[in-house]
Amino acid sequence: MSSNKPIIGVSADIGVEEESKFPGHRQTFVYEDYVKSVESAGGIPIVLPVTTDEEIVKQLAEEIDGLLLTGGVDVNPLEYGEEPLEQQGGISPERDKFEIALLKAVIDLKKPVFAICRGLQIMNIAYGGTLYQDLTYISKKTLKHQQGSVNLGDETHSVFVEKDSYLHDIFGEKVMTNSFHHQAVKEVAKGFKVTAWSKDDIVEGIEKEGDCSVVGVQWHPERMADEHEHMLKLFKHLVKEAS
Ligand code: MN
Repeated sequence: MSSNKPIIGVSADIGVEEESKFPGHRQTFVYEDYVKSVESAGGIPIVLPVTTDEEIVKQLAEEIDGLLLTGGVDVNPLEYGEEPLEQQGGISPERDKFEIALLKAVIDLKKPVFAICRGLQIMNIAYGGTLYQDLTYISKKTLKHQQGSVNLGDETHSVFVEKDSYLHDIFGEKVMTNSFHHQAVKEVAKGFKVTAWSKDDIVEGIEKEGDCSVVGVQWHPERMADEHEHMLKLFKHLVKEAS
């Protein structure tokens, strides 16, 4: 029997073991809820390890049917022309370079992309946007976007969705989300539009203009999909577009 499930590339993180038999040992990994969400949505997840080899990046983009950009550490502010401020978090410059190159290669091939948290931020940077290095650098007070609940899937704030967007097709005008970010989009990249906001005017969703589905969300739907099944719709949308 042959399967027609699309292959979804899932961008990997680089980690360093701290408490183990091999401290300092580097590892390539993704949190399981990303790959489980792709699988539950009907796709075949393939983990894509960080590489700086341009030919590998090009071939990876050709091999996959769609791309899931995962969350992780902050984007290096040098990527958007800023020096690091005091509240800037940890970075992974190698991963930034990889994901920016892979994302552009996938979009050039007109394949669909779904980007989560850091993934949304990478997408914005890749096409010329900028970030607030920390929410405290915004002149007005914001909501708490780094939620404190033990259950990572808990809903913590509202997100308001713009009409005529994929996110509106998926959720309608409002959705409750979790929130684990201390940075946010400042200037939106050219060719992208903001399609979701929180009540304090923080960007919670962006989409690329054009006929291919390129969607990013600032929250973590993969951590919610278990208990809030409608969050799986985001992954189903990616799988459908990749089919
Ligand atoms: Mn948020």
